[in-house]
Amino acid sequence: MRFALVNDVRCEAAPRLIGSCPSCLQAMIAKCGNQRIRHWAHRSRVSCDTWKERETLWHRTLKDQFPAEWQEVQMRDDSGQRHIADVRTAHGLVVEFQHSHLGANERAAREAFYNNMVWVVDGTRLKRDRGRFQQGGKLLRRVPATNLFFTHTPEACFPVAWLSSTKPVFFDFEGVRDGSQTADRHVLWCLLPERVEGLAILAPIPRQRFVTAASERAWIIPGKAVIELLTTFLRRERAVAELNARAWAYASPNERNFRRARWRRRARMR
Ligand SMILES: [Zn+2]
Repeated sequence: MRFALVNDVRCEAAPRLIGSCPSCLQAMIAKCGNQRIRHWAHRSRVSCDTWKERETLWHRTLKDQFPAEWQEVQMRDDSGQRHIADVRTAHGLVVEFQHSHLGANERAAREAFYNNMVWVVDGTRLKRDRGRFQQGGKLLRRVPATNLFFTHTPEACFPVAWLSSTKPVFFDFEGVRDGSQTADRHVLWCLLPERVEGLAILAPIPRQRFVTAASERAWIIPGKAVIELLTTFLRRERAVAELNARAWAYASPNERNFRRARWRRRARMR
């Protein structure tokens, strides 16, 4: 963890510091070696929150985009279950950063517990994840005049384990190299949980805009508006296809020859 309590104040790990866990109040030791980023670990080797994974530079860099008071926020449900959210904004949106593989059951449990949440998944952990996305990304279709994409085969882009998530999942295929990269060109690819006519919806968003959105409101991508947009687009596309088919059925031989020539011209231009 990044923060522990030292004399009741949230502090970052520093050499020889002794703290206590803000969640379970057990003693924590500051780990300040060279191998890993500075962090706090429970002295008893038993983490009070089994959902928390070892923090990497990637976690820390992304968490650090948000104010310290939004990081590692303890949450509790009606049954008394307690967990520490990676980030919980002032608008109540939880952002969970996930580096390791996560089983379907645990993913579902976290989604139920945090409720208003989004995932940010480290897409650089496995080489094949990035490669898959680079290949699968070529098959995406764009909704004209928008920054939205859709596909019948999201499994060609993303790890199967995330396809049934009930929350927006933002994949980070760029990662953090030295922690100092420019954030403006860094894009997160959002897979929305909803489907329209069986199609998966993808919305790329620059990391900086992700952070701004999370700071200003309780959601990142307006799911409902996006669904309406894609629904309208598909309906319109079908209507145009139907009109074309009808025009073809009633066209004279000359008109058909003219249309065929036009298609060939267009096909050559593509
Ligand atoms: Zn603890």
